[in-house]
Amino acid sequence: MSEIRDITTAKSGWEKINWVRSYMPVLNSINAEFSAARPFEGKKISMSIHLEAKTAYLALVLRAGGARVYVTGCNPLSTQDDVAAALASDGFEVYARRGVDEAEYEDHLKKTLSCCPDLIIDDGGDLTRLLHGECGDYTVNLIGGGEETTTGIHRLFARQAAGQLRFPMIDVNDADCKHLFDNRYGTGQSTLDGIMNTTNLIIAGKTVVVAGYGWCGKGIAMRGKGMGGIVVVTEIDPVKAIEAQMDGFDVMPMDKAAEKGDLFITATGCRDVIRSEHFEVMKDGVLLANAGHFDVEIDKKSLYGAAINVWERKPGITGCRMPDGRILNLLAEGRLVNLAAGNGHPAEIMDMSFALQAKCLEYLAKNGSTLENRVYQVPPEIDRAVALLKLSSMGVSIDSLSPGQEQYLKQTE
Ligand code: NAD
Ligand code: SAH
Repeated sequence: MSEIRDITTAKSGWEKINWVRSYMPVLNSINAEFSAARPFEGKKISMSIHLEAKTAYLALVLRAGGARVYVTGCNPLSTQDDVAAALASDGFEVYARRGVDEAEYEDHLKKTLSCCPDLIIDDGGDLTRLLHGECGDYTVNLIGGGEETTTGIHRLFARQAAGQLRFPMIDVNDADCKHLFDNRYGTGQSTLDGIMNTTNLIIAGKTVVVAGYGWCGKGIAMRGKGMGGIVVVTEIDPVKAIEAQMDGFDVMPMDKAAEKGDLFITATGCRDVIRSEHFEVMKDGVLLANAGHFDVEIDKKSLYGAAINVWERKPGITGCRMPDGRILNLLAEGRLVNLAAGNGHPAEIMDMSFALQAKCLEYLAKNGSTLENRVYQVPPEIDRAVALLKLSSMGVSIDSLSPGQEQYLKQTE
């Protein structure tokens, strides 16, 4: 029995789903393929991903492939209640409500797993964590799953290194058709979109401090610059720091950047990147936002602790008045601003990420019995097939090697 906010909002959820599906051509073609081949006939799939319209379409595609699908979110603030209602109205088991507390969030994850799934889709490792602990008994049918994001992958590799991984997982994040587009262009656009939506303030002329120059940070810095921001980058990796400097950004430690910034955006996957000594020197009115995995990149506990008053200035903006009168503004409670205060990545981007997830689950359903309990990369033929489908949907064609060129490239000298 689904646990959602309000089933009467299903119509608005369907409008959102029907809008995005017309901009997800790769998933549309997989939908047609799965409807005919039914690769998941009789299988149960549990998924924990940001529950919004594109994710709902992925759930529909998996069901078209024969699966019974159990759905929850992967962040208490990114669930869109009308989309959850749409899926529940159509026979899916959905356990998700926007704004639930930690206990209910955890309970929803467990309920999603209680069907003893054959396959999982995880985003950040919450399902995997439970299946290695409290929900260990729910692994009886488990073939394996796909992990969506960088931080989830780090945790899988840590578990594998400790010899503890109990089922095969596919590293969807590191496929080319995922991180090159989703992490970079998706996070770049949707993070600024979430910030602008929430604040209704301008980027042009602001000093935008981007912490972390990985795939997400690169996208945010690129889009911040494109909108007229003066972009500063902080890093801990010397190579990434050179890359940022040569891409035309100012690189400096957070201690220095803290004094300069008007808008701070973290995208590191690390913790306490912005902390008390930085809050002390920030300008009045600064905006603090996070685009990385979890709400620990900005040390909000210290921020709230140091403030003499913490209040909601408007939805999505927590004002923190410091003892000297300055106000520091934390967006979306320090959670992923693009999803907690926006719609996340655009449909055309999730088209590729979710096409990979769908094809990886099909791969697991076919080959699971031959796989070991370790982290696998996405098979290159799946990455290439997704790229070709995307390219053709964009009306772009490319050259191919002539036999002579192929031979030339294989020559030893
Ligand atoms: P990445 O590994 O490519 O980049 C992270 C960068 O942060 C690295 O260059 C690293 O050196 C740097 N870094 C680490 N600790 C730091 C610190 N203390 N100070 C400054 N820099 C530091 O990872 P990515 O793919 O860019 O992902 C970053 C985070 O964003 C992850 O947590 C990932 O799960 C999340 N993510 C979010 C979205 C979204 O929709 N908001 C999308 C994809 C990934
Ligand atoms: N559990 C984590 C999840 C990390 S989110 C949390 O604390 O929220 C990072 C992932 O969100 C990315 O890898 C990206 O693929 C995914 N994402 C971004 N926009 C999305 C969208 N519109 N719908 C579903 N997933 C999205």
